[in-house]
Parts: sequence; structure tokens; C-alpha cells
Amino acid sequence: MGFKVSRMMDLVFASRNKNKIIELQEIFGGIIKVRSLSEIGFDKDIVESASTIAGNSLLKAKCIYDKFKYNSISDDTGLEVEMLNGEPGVYSARYAGVNANSNENIKKLLNNLSGKKNRKACFKTVITLIIDGNVHQFEGLVDGMITSQTRGSNGFGYDSVFVPLGHEKTFAEMQSFEKNKISHRFLALKKTSDFISGIV
Ligand code: IMP
Repeated sequence: MGFKVSRMMDLVFASRNKNKIIELQEIFGGIIKVRSLSEIGFDKDIVESASTIAGNSLLKAKCIYDKFKYNSISDDTGLEVEMLNGEPGVYSARYAGVNANSNENIKKLLNNLSGKKNRKACFKTVITLIIDGNVHQFEGLVDGMITSQTRGSNGFGYDSVFVPLGHEKTFAEMQSFEKNKISHRFLALKKTSDFISGIV
């Protein structure tokens, strides 16, 4: 699957998350040339110090544009759980602690929701695109439910506990092409690609 744009655009993806890079390439179908941080020789960590998902997304793309003047694209994603007043949200990556891995984050999430009936949640992605210094942001949202146990082994992060609305499988039980047809990242990237199509 890929979106159609009339001219190849060269963008640096301000992320080291290999899963996101794979999803981005699969969704853009090779039509947008995505360069990684290692390809441009950037090996530092970008500290996600903003208080919102949109703020962290902006911070990542801006760091690369300001330093190299390369057109850049970034993604920041969070899982917002209604019963937990929107947590983990902007803290999704470090929910169980600064160096927590996905299993630890999931464990904390399932503990906090233990015995709770309301399991509504929403994945939110904000893509930031910086072209010639101009900032554009695009949001993708997917509503769903948190399961009581992990299910499936595909995907990454919280995929094994999230069932999108209208579906029965968790994202981790879906094949990547299934997730990438409906996901928060897909929806935000679709808006991004429609925007790029209009300017190239
Ligand atoms: P970040 O956008 O890299 O800061 O990710 C925030 C957290 O959400 C990390 O724990 C990721 O593993 C998780 N995450 C990001 N995107 C997804 C996704 O598509 N599915 C499940 N978890 C995700």
C-alpha cells in the first residue's frame, strides 16, 4: 500500500524507532524517500520534554531542521485511556519509568485497569512536517478498547492490548498491512501525503 504523490520528496525521519520507520515506509510505499537519522550522521537522543504529543512531535522535526536545514518529518504517538484521565498519554513511552520497556508499560496499564469496566482508549499520532522552515502538523486518532490480557505478537508498544473499534483482533494480532490500513499513524500520514501531493 502507498499513497500517490507526483514527485519524490526527500525527508529525514526524526526517529530511531525501527518499527515506526518500517510502518512509514510501508504506508508511503517508497514514493516519499525517507532518510534515517543515521544516514545523516545524527547520533544524539532528542529529549521529548514537551507536555503534549503535538509539542514532542514538533520538537523532534524542528531539532533536525534547525541543525541541518533538511526537510524533516516526525511522529509522536500516545495512548490515552479514558478511565485513567488520558494517561499514559504523553508519558506512554515511560509510563512504568524512564527506562521502562513495552512489557513493563503494558503491565502497569493492565494493573491500573484491573477490574475496571470502562476500557475505552484512543491512540493519537501527530505527524510534523517541516518543509523549507514551514511547520505543518497532521493528527490521526483511533478509538478502541484495552484488553484484559496481551494478545498477539506482531507490531510493537501497546499493540498487544489495543483492539480498534469495529474490530476483534488487537493490533498485534493483525498483519502489518491490516494495522497500516486503519491505524492512527496511517490516518495522520494519509493527511500528510494528501498535503504533500498538493504542493509537489
Ligand atoms: P513515541 O511516539 O515513540 O514517543 O511512543 C510513545 C509510546 O507509544 C512508546 O511506548 C511506543 O512504543 C508506543 N507506540 C507508539 N506508536 C505505537 C503504535 O503504533 N502501536 C502501539 N504502541 C505505540
